[in-house]
Amino acid sequence: MKIPILMYHKVSPGQKEKYRISPEKFTSQMEYLSGKGYQTISPDDLLRFIKGARNERRETRDEEQRDKSSIVLVSKANARPSSVVRVRRGTLPQKPVLLTFDDGYKDNFTHAYPILKRYNFRATIFLVTRYMGKKNGWSKGNEEMLSWKEIEEMKKEGFSFGSHAHTHPNLLELSRNKVLSEIRDSKRILEERLGEAIIFFAYPYGKFNSKIKEMVKGAGYLGAFSTLPGKNGRNEDPFLLRRILIRGYDTKLHFILNLKLGKSRI
Ligand SMILES: [Zn+2]
Repeated sequence: MKIPILMYHKVSPGQKEKYRISPEKFTSQMEYLSGKGYQTISPDDLLRFIKGARNERRETRDEEQRDKSSIVLVSKANARPSSVVRVRRGTLPQKPVLLTFDDGYKDNFTHAYPILKRYNFRATIFLVTRYMGKKNGWSKGNEEMLSWKEIEEMKKEGFSFGSHAHTHPNLLELSRNKVLSEIRDSKRILEERLGEAIIFFAYPYGKFNSKIKEMVKGAGYLGAFSTLPGKNGRNEDPFLLRRILIRGYDTKLHFILNLKLGKSRI
């Protein structure tokens, strides 16, 4: 089995753009997934599925006795309590899909969230910590971002959150120290705000190299989402998770091909 991870950004009415999908089109995609029997999974579920997660797993006898229904994921590089994560055992649904949103736009709450709830779907949102509750400070800088209250409400409904760095820079253009603070600060801020371990990262602009990948690992994350296309098999590198970009102007055929093949061009 290979698992598709879909990547969205903005969900709102307006001009057709690569990174903005209309609520109508988004609804019809969710309708399609639901009708075909797809069920959303969390990044934790995905991590358990891929082979890499098995290397990170720590199962002590004590843990087993205390709670047979869970496994413990521990980041090797970071012994802080927040990097110890308990993930419930469970089997994946027959047709799993992971829905992700990058950046943390307010429309994820106003438009996508009610649609997702209608289909009993959950999603994962990668937040740029410096701009939450404000306007975004990169690109044109005129987009409203999610408030912490909205994030909190979605969290209560089972949505999960990861880091998309502190200021959304191209990490390839920064010094080592700046990269480290982008990766660490965003993790710390999210953990303080949400009161849980933040163990997933998404590379801003999909930009990374092997050093950046190692720094993300070293900061205590257990997985990172890239923009490399395709679906994810058991042997995938957990720090190079593949995602399928859903573009605002994609047709239904693009969407179906993406789901089945991990790409929409044949
Ligand atoms: Zn982004």
